[in-house]
Amino acid sequence: MVMLRERRRRAARTFFLWNRHAAIQLVALLRVAVFLAFMPIGFVPVMPFASMTQYVQAVPKTNDDPLDHRLARYQSVAGITGTRWSYLAAIDQFHRSLIVKNPDDPDAVSFRFPDVLWGGPGNPRAPEEDVRLINLFGGLGIDADGDQKASQDNPLDVLTALGRFLHRFGDDPENFREALAKLYDDEKKRRIILGFERLIAHYGRLDLDEKHFVLDRRYPYSYTNTFGATRGWGGRRIHEGADLFASYGTPVKSASYGYVEVIGWNNYGGWRIGIRDLNNVYYYYAHLAHFKKGLKEGDLVEPGEVIGFVGSSGYGPPGTQGKFPPHLHFGMYRYTGKYEWAFDPTPYLRRWEKNARARGE
Ligand SMILES: [Zn+2]
Repeated sequence: MVMLRERRRRAARTFFLWNRHAAIQLVALLRVAVFLAFMPIGFVPVMPFASMTQYVQAVPKTNDDPLDHRLARYQSVAGITGTRWSYLAAIDQFHRSLIVKNPDDPDAVSFRFPDVLWGGPGNPRAPEEDVRLINLFGGLGIDADGDQKASQDNPLDVLTALGRFLHRFGDDPENFREALAKLYDDEKKRRIILGFERLIAHYGRLDLDEKHFVLDRRYPYSYTNTFGATRGWGGRRIHEGADLFASYGTPVKSASYGYVEVIGWNNYGGWRIGIRDLNNVYYYYAHLAHFKKGLKEGDLVEPGEVIGFVGSSGYGPPGTQGKFPPHLHFGMYRYTGKYEWAFDPTPYLRRWEKNARARGE
């Protein structure tokens, strides 16, 4: 009896799903039919952004600095679409940071809408570049540069469509969160983009690549390449970082611009801080004695800024100290959009150390 009811329920569900699928197809077909019916009598959908074309083409010619070029374009597209340029920059920078290939091409926009949003729900063609069909299906794609194509390979088209999309939600940070929730299922991605946005808005620029050595060089310290070595203290994982030995209380400095993504206790790392920069590199500082007073999650930091002090915390419940000699464990990870992979920070430490020495630090 129960089985019979279950079978009936399943059959009804299949029937419903099939019908739903068919209905979507039917609506799509009807839309195409309407479109074709209107075409012969010169139906030309409104081009809401036609007048904007000249404006976009007038993006000020800047010097050869690709970052200036990108900044100017974010600002001009933001001006046209009514959104904040830091929103556009943060989203685009997030995608740019995931692409290793050709990151300095000033004309590339790395962000892409999912095809279904660009072309419109129910649109059987993907990718869709026909402005009239996009309008018909209620897609977000637009032709911003007047070449009669709404193409995601065209930087102005995709960036302007993004600006217009963001503007619909409103200007406040809360609205920006809502817009991001429509574009990204992944909470981590949304949080990174929000962090990027605060960094870019705060400094008002994109060139936040400056780096600094991670210890105050007026204190004695030493390190060798220990990346990939078997862990000295417990666990069978390989050593994902470099150990810089120094005395208790030696100031630890941020290597980069970034925002504090993580701060607090971790049973391996002890008192530890995780900072992410605009290139989606995550810097991990562990075994600290204590943090810089008042430093908290979300704070923005600069290269060379003191963030904490060398200690020997970790390998136990909160507060455990002294299970090993004091040192800074420093790790660097790159986010791919799916996972974070550790890479050897030693060559970077050497370079930053050399630069510090050249500056007389
Ligand atoms: Zn270590």
